[in-house]
Amino acid sequence: MSTELEDYYKVIYNCCKCSMCRNMSPWEMQSKRFKDICPSGSRFLFEAYFAPGKMEITRALLDKEISYSDRLMHIIFACPLCGGCQAQCDDVNIIKPLDVLQKLRAKVVKEKGPLPAHAKFAKSIEQFHNPYNEPHENRLDWIPKDIKLNKNAKTAYFVGCTSSYRRFEIAKATVNVLNAIGVDFNILHPNEWCCGSPLFMTGQVDEGIKLMKHNLEVFKERGIENLIFSCAGCYKTFKKTYPQYSGEYNFNVLHVTEFLLKYFKEHNVKLKNYPKTVTYHDPCHLGRHSKVYDAPREVLKQIPGLKLVEMERIRENAWCCGAGAGVASAYKDFAYWTASKRLEEAKYVGADVLTSPCPFCITNFLEASKTMKDPIEVIPLVKILEEVTK
Ligand code: SF4
Ligand code: SF4
Repeated sequence: MSTELEDYYKVIYNCCKCSMCRNMSPWEMQSKRFKDICPSGSRFLFEAYFAPGKMEITRALLDKEISYSDRLMHIIFACPLCGGCQAQCDDVNIIKPLDVLQKLRAKVVKEKGPLPAHAKFAKSIEQFHNPYNEPHENRLDWIPKDIKLNKNAKTAYFVGCTSSYRRFEIAKATVNVLNAIGVDFNILHPNEWCCGSPLFMTGQVDEGIKLMKHNLEVFKERGIENLIFSCAGCYKTFKKTYPQYSGEYNFNVLHVTEFLLKYFKEHNVKLKNYPKTVTYHDPCHLGRHSKVYDAPREVLKQIPGLKLVEMERIRENAWCCGAGAGVASAYKDFAYWTASKRLEEAKYVGADVLTSPCPFCITNFLEASKTMKDPIEVIPLVKILEEVTK
């Protein structure tokens, strides 16, 4: 993928504003209630917020027909870069609205600077290597005392900032599962830094590249063969974003569900009963952005007693959790609104539990739940796996 917005000029012109990307494909739509695919357009209800409007705004900016304003910044940044539009575009081999929107942010940041909320976490990352203003030396405070790590292991777990500082239960559950089933692994503390996802996704690309260089150097030096992720954002950043910026590596990048699916089968791991009806939320970074749809579902299907029910919008048609690309930090109400729509959909299909393999999605769902009457239970996918491997 080219890294400059100007290289997409003809692509932007090619968008015929057909608006097919405003809704889920009519051939796959199951009901009018769950037809929406674009949180930004559905929430703000102006054409400018849907992808065709944003494509036209991008063209007008490149042609210097419009200039920056607060409203324009809102249109550009009140969008979780979920990629729902790109998945619907009939002409996706040529027209890539998501790629355009990402490059647009990089241009805006170069010309105008980041949004204040995004500049704030960039400063924290520069100082502490995490966006949460937490001391770097506390990054591993969550680790259970009895966990067995092997400093010579060829498999490492990249914990990520959200699980290290906010969703400890996901980090703990991941290491507990790995220990319970006998995986030889290590955590590269203190050398693990933020993967850079919050920076790349908010247009602060140069700052993201610095983190990429640090992280790749560390993992290459240690001769890691497999790097496991419990965060969809970190996974996508290593798998898709780093190579776009010449960040090459020769180890395997695996989401924990991909790793465990293979491991369970090869080692004939016996799982305990989990008698609940569960629905699965595809995180955009794992699903649409990285095309990992099957591994998490297959892992859930291995669990005896667990009944997997699907929502209406799944896989490439999934409705976003709403938190990504700096929306959770800059536009909280919009992030919670998007998440609440997903929680309603999960309830509608009769699930007891909504699960997802991404700490960022889980955080946003839990926060949105607090604003709802009688919300569905939200459980991280690795927590379910921890229960059934104890
Ligand atoms: S991005 Fe694709 S689907 Fe959306 S308006 Fe343009 S051509 Fe149509
Ligand atoms: S990335 Fe998602 S929210 Fe943004 S315009 Fe596309 S579908 Fe809408």
